[in-house]
Amino acid sequence: MAEIYYDDDADLSIIQGRHVAIIGYGSQGHAHALNLRDSGVDVRIGLAEGSKSKAKAEAEGLRVLSVADAVEEADLIMILTPDQVQRTVYAESIQPHLTTGDALFFAHGFNIRFGYISAPEGVDVAMVAPKGPGHTVRREFEAGRGVPALIAVEKDASGNAEALALSYAKAIGGSRAGVIKTTFTEETETDLFGEQAVLCGGVSQMVQYGFETLTEAGYKPEIAYFEVLHELKLIVDLMIEGGIAKQRWSVSDTAEYGDYVSGPRVIDPHVKENMKAVLSDIQDGTFAKRFIDDQDAGGPEFTELRAKGEAHPIEATGRELRQLFSWIKSNDDYTEGQVS
Ligand code: NAD
Ligand code: MG
Ligand code: MG
Ligand code: MG
Ligand code: MG
Repeated sequence: MAEIYYDDDADLSIIQGRHVAIIGYGSQGHAHALNLRDSGVDVRIGLAEGSKSKAKAEAEGLRVLSVADAVEEADLIMILTPDQVQRTVYAESIQPHLTTGDALFFAHGFNIRFGYISAPEGVDVAMVAPKGPGHTVRREFEAGRGVPALIAVEKDASGNAEALALSYAKAIGGSRAGVIKTTFTEETETDLFGEQAVLCGGVSQMVQYGFETLTEAGYKPEIAYFEVLHELKLIVDLMIEGGIAKQRWSVSDTAEYGDYVSGPRVIDPHVKENMKAVLSDIQDGTFAKRFIDDQDAGGPEFTELRAKGEAHPIEATGRELRQLFSWIKSNDDYTEGQVS
């Protein structure tokens, strides 16, 4: 069993003795900054010139500086810009201002794991990765709870990097729920695999195929939407509460039997072979290179794929239906907060 750390295992005073710079004020950035501040930690925000996030951070009473100035002032720098811009921000505005004794923190291991960023001698490199979207990290903290987090140490220059990471995790609420130790390699590869093969890629594709199969057979799109998308949340909630077994216990015997006989027909062993190929592309850097090369070119493939996804008929059906759902707070004006 992996060892799990809780509040009693972490010393909050370590992070309270540091000067923290949060670089970026998006989904994770706002949550880390506000939770740290509410835990009595000295925080400043580093943003690019002209950033739209500046007003939001200042409205919360946070001090906003240029990235370079924030890094200069701080001795712990948490990089929370999108993964694809981290190496440029790092090279231009972070690395030149790092000094011995500083700590460089991440919430995802992508840039360290694939070699896009390497820290100078004498600087701790560690990770505190909440296992949930930033908006949940903030909401749970305010409710007196926390979102579980992973910690990892890539370089322990100070000899104290793990205690520092644990202290940071406590300040953002992670050790209220539980903190598990991992490595940059394990976190990066499993995070990418989970979101690609199952959580985002796998589930989205399966829902789309289910919707297409029903509507192409002549069933109403509204009915198809309910059966293959809307009810997904109810099923996932049961899985989170008690595993796949509880979900099977709760559904009808008809549904449970259908699960056993038809699940393996839809998701056959061939799908597992495909998953292995996806994992292999993650492990050997093929996926990282494809993503970064496309981003460096302005994201043409990314933009095209996003437009194609938004044009799928299930989105139009969903938008219409959700307006009629009195029991769901309509969330079609979302702007951020992804699994990443
Ligand atoms: P985001 O897209 O929500 O926000 C990024 C922020 O970075 C922007 O709001 C902006 O303030 C800032 N920014 C953008 N370009 C910049 C630049 N050139 N210079 C300075 N600042 C810039 O990002 P996010 O989803 O919070 O992801 C941040 C990190 O957290 C990533 O490493 C990601 O993998 C990780 N992470 C995210 C989640 C999540 O739920 N979103 C969960 C766990 C880990
Ligand atoms: Mg400094
Ligand atoms: Mg049904
Ligand atoms: Mg996004
Ligand atoms: Mg991710």
